[in-house]
Amino acid sequence: RMTRNLVLRHNVIKFMRDYLDKEGFIEIETPIMFKATPEGARDYLVPSRLFPGQFYALPQSPQQLKQLLMVAGMDKYFQIARCFRDEDLRGDRQPEFTQLDLEMSFVHRDDVLALVEDLFTKMIPVVTPNKKLLSSPWPKFSHHEVLDKYGSDKPDLRFGMELFELNDIFAKSEFRVFQSTLDAGGVIKCIVAPRSADMSRKEVDALTEVAKSLGAKGMPTLAITGEGVKGSAAKFVKEEEVEALKSKTGAGVGDLIVFATDERKVANKVLGGLRLWFRDKLDLADKDMMAFAWIVDFPFFAWNEENKTWESEHHPFTMPKMEDLPKFDTDPGEVLSDAYDMVCNGYETASGSIRIHRRDIQMKMFQMLGMSDEEIQAKFGHMLEAFEYGAPPHGGMAPGIDRLVMLLADEPNIREVIAFPKNQAGRDVMADAPSGVEPKQLKELHIKFE
Ligand code: ASP
Repeated sequence: RMTRNLVLRHNVIKFMRDYLDKEGFIEIETPIMFKATPEGARDYLVPSRLFPGQFYALPQSPQQLKQLLMVAGMDKYFQIARCFRDEDLRGDRQPEFTQLDLEMSFVHRDDVLALVEDLFTKMIPVVTPNKKLLSSPWPKFSHHEVLDKYGSDKPDLRFGMELFELNDIFAKSEFRVFQSTLDAGGVIKCIVAPRSADMSRKEVDALTEVAKSLGAKGMPTLAITGEGVKGSAAKFVKEEEVEALKSKTGAGVGDLIVFATDERKVANKVLGGLRLWFRDKLDLADKDMMAFAWIVDFPFFAWNEENKTWESEHHPFTMPKMEDLPKFDTDPGEVLSDAYDMVCNGYETASGSIRIHRRDIQMKMFQMLGMSDEEIQAKFGHMLEAFEYGAPPHGGMAPGIDRLVMLLADEPNIREVIAFPKNQAGRDVMADAPSGVEPKQLKELHIKFE
């Protein structure tokens, strides 16, 4: 199995290289020992022997370097790039991972999307003839739309079960839970689970616990049976409301309607999670289907409640929508970005953006993130300087290779498609790394432990 996975990985990378070569891209290696490049994780640091107290940072991605290559006139760049991010590990995360990093000059968003979509659409049947693409062209959703429809910004589109908003149907509801949600300005939403009207009490209780773990306070249900409606909401819902519900959602006998009543964000998250629970329970997703989609129009900033600061939702080199620039000072939460994600089967498989190529906007961005002028200069002076040389408009993206091969190989986590992976605690248990080093080495590196 491991051999098969490594051969598949080789074929994927070979296809990418050949395809991009034909399209006129140049593969360029960029340094591993560099300077901090923020992608939202902690850096791995390398102490310098020659410069006591100074460190290189391993790149969280080659983001800055590929942009500098655009400024240098390398119009089409790619690299099978290793990225390093010190963050908590999960099945789809490793301390180091590989992505197809690419960047192009003089492009708009849709040029980048078209290139990557064409590459993947041609590659899948060659490397995995057993896999089918759900659709071609791939669907495109705005961030707002996809959350409302699927309760997730990385939806699994291999099955339906969309979320419905029901505020209109229950505007005059006498059900206290519904009433108080509407009074508080919240939303009543639902999903319809097929073949689930006869779920046992115990199963519904287990599901309610899942809903609670996602932030719900409760989880009203309505089971449509041959003998009328059952479930915890049944006695509070009027007949005409049930009829309206059926015609809006298409629910029929045998279906279980599961409600979420909360502020929009929470309701979406709860139903998005329950949707995946039903996917697994009812085996709704075809495992040979690759359901790719694009998510666009992300918010530009995210508010960090803990630090009371704005953070970049993507990374700080992403271009805002030009028409939203005036809202930078007045309404930062409303600014949209020219960023995009590629998703597949419930995973984020790539992200990218059109970049800031103007010094003034980049400067403003760093200031919005709460950095002082000295800090900006020390950390990103080289980028700001580069933008003075007439930087071309540019953009790109970076499909993750580990996750893609994991999906193509039907593996449950990326460790199965990586040679010599770390375990879930971030250890290489074969070589026993990380491990201690000789006192002499520490001394050379000017390091003392406390
Ligand atoms: N540098 C980004 C990342 O690693 C991808 C990109 O914006 O091209 O997620």
